[in-house]
Amino acid sequence: MMRFLKDSWRSAALVLAMVALLLPPAHAKPVQALKITVLVTNLSEDAQGEWGYSALVEVDGHKILYDTGASSDLVLKNAKILHIDLSDVEDVVLSHNHWDHVGGLMTLRHDLMAQNPKAMSRVHVGARVFEPRLNAAGEDRNGLKDIRDQYLATGGVFIVHDKPTELWPGVWFAGPVPRPNVEKNWSPGLSLKVADTLIEDNVPEDSPLLFETDQGTVILTGCGHAGVINIVEYARQILGPKPIHALVGGIHLFAASDQQLEWTGAKLKEYGLEALLAGHCTGLEATFRLRAATGLTRKTAVVSAVGSSYTLGKGIDPRKLAQ
Ligand SMILES: [Zn+2]
Ligand SMILES: [Zn+2]
Repeated sequence: MMRFLKDSWRSAALVLAMVALLLPPAHAKPVQALKITVLVTNLSEDAQGEWGYSALVEVDGHKILYDTGASSDLVLKNAKILHIDLSDVEDVVLSHNHWDHVGGLMTLRHDLMAQNPKAMSRVHVGARVFEPRLNAAGEDRNGLKDIRDQYLATGGVFIVHDKPTELWPGVWFAGPVPRPNVEKNWSPGLSLKVADTLIEDNVPEDSPLLFETDQGTVILTGCGHAGVINIVEYARQILGPKPIHALVGGIHLFAASDQQLEWTGAKLKEYGLEALLAGHCTGLEATFRLRAATGLTRKTAVVSAVGSSYTLGKGIDPRKLAQ
């Protein structure tokens, strides 16, 4: 009898192991519905633009706010003009610590928690985001220096990720991005203190959001200080070497040299870029150069304005000015 039981347990375990092998890996469920709407960027028509970035992600019935602009109230103002309700957004992602991406967080939390206590209650950030960024006078210029405690006092939580994490089925917070390519696209002047030595602040926490879709990978980035090609190559490691179906956000190439733009465009083409909604610090000339280098068109490579959007299955809605 015991022998029989042992054997049946063994075969049951074997069957379970086989079933497990047949099941797809945890990240194989692609997103079905995805819309990314830009709420803050430098260009605007009927709302207000500023040097900063924020975008609302709507994915399979779930909302995530990616970055919060520079001014304390511009995300809220622009959302109102665009008739977008943010009171049911509970998850925020901050791409990095800079002032032009974190400035709206406290106003959003205070204003919206009156309607929904859970609104803006979780903030996802990349590892090392809170490390001091020291200027020449030794002052900490980390954009979250004061915001951190103010936000915690509201009952909100920061969730710090040091590796790729699936926040929602098919939605990945990449965490800090390895940097095999020297793309160096951040403003100099700040330092990190590592083991009592000052090293240049290369914004180590900079993290994109990645979306796994049936048509390829969609990437959303704030300033892309990790380097857009480093980001794309990391996305290919995490989600597989699929085409980059869309790239949305700021990629900080406004001051890039002709050679850097050529190299970046050739790489994006090699990795199968199919749509570019480039805003904020990407730069106008850089966007047009990348359009040419990747063979995209005025419909598929667009300068992002406030209210412009990318929808899976439909593509880019540029609104009026940037069409
Ligand atoms: Zn930045
Ligand atoms: Zn920025």
